[in-house]
Amino acid sequence: MSPLTAGAENVAKLPVHGLIDSHCHLDDAAFDDDRDAVLRRAETAGVCKIVVPAYTPKHWGRLKETCRHHPGLYPAYGVHPLYLNDRDGAWEATLAALLTQSVALGEIGLDASDGAPDAAHQRAGFATQLAMARQLGLPVILHARQSLEEVILTLRRFLGLRGVLHSFSGSLVQAQRLMDMGFLLGLGGALTHPRAQRLRATVANLPVESLLAETDAPWQTPHGHPGTRNEPAYLSEIIASLAQLRHTPAQEIARITAQNALTLFHLQDAP
Ligand SMILES: [Zn+2]
Repeated sequence: MSPLTAGAENVAKLPVHGLIDSHCHLDDAAFDDDRDAVLRRAETAGVCKIVVPAYTPKHWGRLKETCRHHPGLYPAYGVHPLYLNDRDGAWEATLAALLTQSVALGEIGLDASDGAPDAAHQRAGFATQLAMARQLGLPVILHARQSLEEVILTLRRFLGLRGVLHSFSGSLVQAQRLMDMGFLLGLGGALTHPRAQRLRATVANLPVESLLAETDAPWQTPHGHPGTRNEPAYLSEIIASLAQLRHTPAQEIARITAQNALTLFHLQDAP
């Protein structure tokens, strides 16, 4: 059966290559024991480039070293809303210096989950970093947990910025508002869970030209690997889910989402 006549289920299982994991915390300690093996499995699974966003300033050095030692890894520096209290007095100057070797500013955003830092504190940290990204002409990697509406309203004050709303799980209307402002939508393991019906229905109706594929490893493990650490090799399963939902060959999804990542993060020109 040729790829063109195969059913969507079969098409999705064909091997894919040229994948880009647009969001993976490969510097995390969860990979300290077997990072090389994880990267070899990713390569075998067709993943050729990985964007590694920061979360805490405490680990900016670790992130820099990890990306320096492994070709195909591209760092993004920033302060995640849950780690704002890890900043020291020199954080802005340190961040500005690191951003000269960064494909994006991130991950940054707002988080309204239990135990998150004070909302006003988060808004200030988010706005400061959005202003830095705009000044430097860098794309942003956005985190929005239980706060997507406020993130969208905040972005309206920074028109002209580009970036990706990572781990998107909003409505079609919210997706459209983000796309209208020039933002892409990052999709990961959540999509592979059969019970994520609302998200799957939304994604089936989004233009592939606005999507990025991501694992968010070591977190957000796809369906089929319950209770285990996520890793970038599983990106092919996210691509397969996208292919099934959209009745499009997996290689086509892989090609377009990889091109979207190359363009947004200027990976072609990155050192
Ligand atoms: Zn993340």
